[in-house]
Amino acid sequence: MIGGGVIGLSVAWRAAQRGLRVTVLERGELGGATSYVAAGMLAPVAEADPCEQPLLTLGIVSARSYPAFVHELAEASGRDPGYLRCGTLLAARDDDEAEALTRELAMRHGLGLTAHRLRASEARRLEPALAPALRLALELPEDHAVDPRRLTAALADGARGAGAVLRAGTEVAEVMVAGGRARGARLRAGDQIEADQVVIAAGPWSATLGGIPPEARVPLRPVKGQVLRMHDPAGPGLLSSVLRMGPAYIVPRGDGRYVLGATMEERGFDTSVTGGAVFELLRDAVELLPGLSELVIDELSAGLRPAAPDNAPVIGQSVTPGLIWATGHYRNGVLLAPVTAEIVASALAGECAPIGDKELEAFAPARFAPARLAPSTVEIGA
Ligand SMILES: Cc1cc2nc3c(=O)[nH]c(=O)nc-3n(C[C@H](O)[C@H](O)[C@H](O)COP(=O)(O)OP(=O)(O)OC[C@H]3O[C@@H](n4cnc5c(N)ncnc54)[C@H](O)[C@@H]3O)c2cc1C
Repeated sequence: MIGGGVIGLSVAWRAAQRGLRVTVLERGELGGATSYVAAGMLAPVAEADPCEQPLLTLGIVSARSYPAFVHELAEASGRDPGYLRCGTLLAARDDDEAEALTRELAMRHGLGLTAHRLRASEARRLEPALAPALRLALELPEDHAVDPRRLTAALADGARGAGAVLRAGTEVAEVMVAGGRARGARLRAGDQIEADQVVIAAGPWSATLGGIPPEARVPLRPVKGQVLRMHDPAGPGLLSSVLRMGPAYIVPRGDGRYVLGATMEERGFDTSVTGGAVFELLRDAVELLPGLSELVIDELSAGLRPAAPDNAPVIGQSVTPGLIWATGHYRNGVLLAPVTAEIVASALAGECAPIGDKELEAFAPARFAPARLAPSTVEIGA
């Protein structure tokens, strides 16, 4: 396994549980890259897009599996993975936003998803700290949250407990391919780790690994996101649901800590944090939740979402036998970790996938393979 983020660790845990010999190679700290920055919303309904039906289905399957996943993980690791059944509110601040939310409600009902329209007074009954600026809200009772830092710590212990070897501070330079199949990984330090199967779960850096045959490569780009972490010295109570307004959101941890997110920036591998981001994040959030301005800032951090050209995850066997991709989870890697782990671990163990082949087609790495040579047509002229 190359990469020890939420995806690599989830796959490692599930694969080790199946009795496979698993080694995770992580160049930094386990769970220390993008997964460390993520807010942890489990939000397939809030993120629903009728043009992305396969992703919606995958997200719903994963969200529904979360309670059992974290319960089992807590037992296996002895740690609390930080799952919070908090629900989500989508908020509108003016007539235009209210009209847009009404359309969004109809779209979700059309997809068979649960969403309730709340008048401002009804939303304030649920969340008394909401400002009078609120016009309308949608309640999404099935979208919850998890603390990704607690989750990855629990996954690491769960995976170790199931027999996986986790090697932090171990950078992979290239995938070893011989005789047309993946054979292991060559480390930056020079030594080689042999393996029958290699899973690439190195987030946006997956595309920069050496040794992958051109036809098996997947194009990925990093999409930077900055988030603020804050806490309320008065303790919990300011907000109990996830609150989303346009692209911005506030995620409560249930103990007086909050995560405010997130910017979306296409700036390559830059992870600097900026004053403009603090301004942007607070401006939108304080308008709806004025009490936020009393909170203490703990951290401003930036992470890099791994994104494929179509923004859909890349999960499954590549065209190179023995080489499996588990990346490209973009804005939803925490949400999609349980279902990705099941799909990849069952492929590693030679079992049937928990999701049908047809449903998985949209995520197949082969969708990026160069087109087979078609009978050529020659165009002449401009
Ligand atoms: C601001 C922000 C907010 C987000 N909020 C949410 C959210 O609310 N809900 C949600 O579901 N998702 C969210 N996401 C997305 C989510 O964080 C990602 O989809 C997810 O973390 C991807 O996990 P990963 O394991 O693929 O990547 P990572 O966590 O980045 O793990 C990849 C690992 O590979 C390692 N690696 C890289 N190269 C090598 C190498 N050569 N050798 C060895 N190791 C290597 C890295 O060090 C890293 O630890 C958010 C992302 C951001 C940036």
